[in-house]
Parts: sequence; C-alpha cells; structure tokens
Amino acid sequence: MFAELEAQRSALANVELLAEHYPDIPLETIFKEDLLRRGMAWSREALQISARYKPKAYFIFSFDLVPISQMDQAENIKAPEEVRLVGGAYHFKPVIVSVRLNPASPYRVEASEGGLVLRLEHTDIARVELQKAPAYYQRELANGKPIIDIAPTIEWGYLLYLTVFRLCQYFGAQEECQFCDINENYRQQKKSGRPYTAVKSVEEILEALEIIASTDSDSKAYTVTGGSITSTLEGESEIDFYVRYPEAIEKKFPGRWISKMVVQALPKEQVQRFRDAGVSIYHPNYEVWDNRLFEIICAGKARYIGRDEWIRRILDAAGVFGPQNVIPNFVAGIEMSRPAGFSTVDEAIASTGEGLDFFMSHGVSPRFTTWCPEPLSVLGRSQSGAPLEYHVRLLRVYRDTRAKYGLEPPAGYGAPGLGNAVFSVSSFMDVLPALQSAEKNA
Ligand code: SF4
Repeated sequence: MFAELEAQRSALANVELLAEHYPDIPLETIFKEDLLRRGMAWSREALQISARYKPKAYFIFSFDLVPISQMDQAENIKAPEEVRLVGGAYHFKPVIVSVRLNPASPYRVEASEGGLVLRLEHTDIARVELQKAPAYYQRELANGKPIIDIAPTIEWGYLLYLTVFRLCQYFGAQEECQFCDINENYRQQKKSGRPYTAVKSVEEILEALEIIASTDSDSKAYTVTGGSITSTLEGESEIDFYVRYPEAIEKKFPGRWISKMVVQALPKEQVQRFRDAGVSIYHPNYEVWDNRLFEIICAGKARYIGRDEWIRRILDAAGVFGPQNVIPNFVAGIEMSRPAGFSTVDEAIASTGEGLDFFMSHGVSPRFTTWCPEPLSVLGRSQSGAPLEYHVRLLRVYRDTRAKYGLEPPAGYGAPGLGNAVFSVSSFMDVLPALQSAEKNA
C-alpha cells in the first residue's frame, strides 16, 4: 500500500507514515527495522568514542552494506557490535539494534554533548548507548588467539556465538544461498588482518569458555554453528563434526548455558544425537517459505536435501526436541528480492504468513533475521532491502500467528517485550508481549 511510493518520501516521513498507519507496532521497532535494512553511518568523532566499547566481532557474516574495502574510517574495527537506543524526541523505550555499517545511510550516529545520538536527516531520533566490552575480550588463548575470535557475544552479552566453521561447502553461484556472504566475508576479514579462525577446535572452544565461565555472568546461552558440510570436514560428516562441540561443552559445563545448534535440517536419528549431547534448541533454518524461491535462492539446500524433505525433517525434529524448541530461521525480506522475488508486499506477506501458519500450527516456532543486502552476496550486489512496510507487516503477522496458536515466547532469546528484548537482528522479540514478572525466563 505504501511501499510503491517509498522512494519518493524522506526516510523519516516514511517511518512516521507507517507508524501512523500501524499504531499497534511500536515506533521503536519501525526505526529498528529501517536501521537493519539500511544500515547506519558513523561520524569520525562517534567512532572515536565507540572504539572504547565492545567492538563488532563479525560473528558469522559481514552484516554490513559495504565491504571493508570501502570503509574509509576503519569502521570495521571501531564500530560497536550493537547499540541501545533510548529516550530522545520520540521517548524510546530501550531497543537494541545490531550495527550494520553503511557510510551512505541516512541514519547517522554522531557525538553530541559528551554522548552519542542517532540522527536521521538531521533530526535527532534517540540517544545511543553502548555496551562495555566484557573483561574476557582482552584475553587470549594459550595459542595467542583472541577470545573475540573464538567466542564473541551478541544480544547485549546474552548469547555466545560459536561459529566453529567460518566457511560453507555450498560454494559458488549454483549452490551458495544467494543472500549469504559467509565465504566472501571470511576472505575479506582475513585480508583485513583480523584474526579469524576458519575451523575452531573443540579444545579452543573449551579453553575460551573456561575463561568466560570464570569471569562472566551475562551470557545465558550459546549457539554452535557454521557453514554446511556437504562432504566431510577434517574427515568428519556434518553431524560428526558438529556434535563434538555440544558434547564436549555439556560434559565440561553441564547446563551452564542454554545450548543451541544452527545446522542444516538433518535426519531424525542425527538430530537425536544433538539432543543426547545436551542441546536444548535446534535451528534448522528454512530461509524462505515459497517453493519456487527456495529452489532459486537456496539452490544448494534444494539440490542436496530438497524443500519437502527439509520441512519433513523440521517436523521430525519437533518429535525429538519438543516443537517449541525447534526454531527455524528465515531471512525476512529475501522473498521480495529481484529478480525472482514477489513484487508486492501483499504477495510476500501472504507467502511468508502461510509458512508461519504452517509451522506454528505444529507448535514449531520460526523466527527471523531482517535481510541485510550484503554486497558480497549474490542478491546484495545490486539492490537494497525490502520495503519498510513489508517488515512492519511481518511483525504483525508474526505476533498475531503466535497468539493464534497460543505459543509461548521462544526459549533461548531472553525476555520478550519492548524495553526487555535483546535480540538485535530483528524486532520479533520486541513486539511479543512482556512476561509477567513471575514468568520471566532467563
Ligand atoms: S547453508 Fe546457505 S546460509 Fe548457511 S552458510 Fe551455507 S550458503 Fe550461507
């Protein structure tokens, strides 16, 4: 309805128009979605301040809208992992946003009166707060590798993100998911000189977690993930390679953190091995619901596993973990990417809403990340993200479909609700109702 004329409005007018038309979606989350799809620019003075706080770790993908080679102010090493937007002219409740760098974005973080402010087209939007780097970010393993490489945290310190394999064996235009820059990002990080371990050993992970466990009380969950393994890695199949990590972690630190795995949709007997190892939550990401788009955008997954089998395995996994603990991700907005995607918001929401309804009717609880059109990915080379109206309407459909099936907030994401949520790469947790104090989970 509004998307067609988006380019003719200023960014601020676009946000305000959508806020007026969708008053049940918090204004903070409309700005958050806009920031996630457009990225943010940082002034030189703001970067001088942010460089003293918790830096962007490049925990798996680039999640930037320009490559490092185009960052003239060394934003890749000075910008923070996340910002918390508070107060300001719109009286923001705290909302945490992942930092996606884009020097050309209309959103700018600038220094102001000793602090930082988020501006959009010269209008002050909110105060910007940063998170201190945890003490363990200064520590190294015995082999000299920094902990920020081996076990960074995101979600304001809640989640330890263990990308144990920083590459993917789906490789090249015929196989790699078209929204994904994992392989290209690895190359640019190495080229930039960042310590960036391709394959982390179980011993490195345990050593890092030992240091974290002895110094940190903020982290509540960990995710083990990495690229897909279509043949073998270090002589191991995908399940044999990945299962060793939760097995070792849960043996050494039983129950210390909520254990989460993000890997492909694997056969039920393999998924059972994750459960037996102590994993609580399984994320077999389906990326995009529409059958035709899955074949095009996720060609490797379509060829090696197939969409129908992928969906069957998600439902099988529900029998292993309990449906509420199977949380497949999709990348919100890629169903509107050119050239193959839907051309209208109505079609995109109808399709994705159908997928949400299907999974949620089985008690399975998808979640999403807002698409970042990374220039090192196939889709991000030549286009910007989906219209903001799509993202606002998706938040409604997501919230309302959960309510229709009476689903509790997903586990392993911290507290839901505006002002509480820590999930920073989409607003799905911000728009869920807050729990009553007696129900608050970790
Ligand atoms: S399976 Fe797709 S999304 Fe996952 S790492 Fe490989 S290319 Fe990227």
